[in-house]
Amino acid sequence: MVVQTERDDTTWYECETCGLLFDERSDATDHEQMCDGSDPSYIQ
Ligand SMILES: [Zn+2]
Repeated sequence: MVVQTERDDTTWYECETCGLLFDERSDATDHEQMCDGSDPSYIQ
């Protein structure tokens, strides 16, 4: 799921699965469709 968030007066779109931030909603949704949340490099 993609969530919208505001930081430094900028709107970001965050992949809720892995926490990656995108400045374009389309980039975030494209990523989210491919993201299975199991890549350890994204998980802290
Ligand atoms: Zn992701």
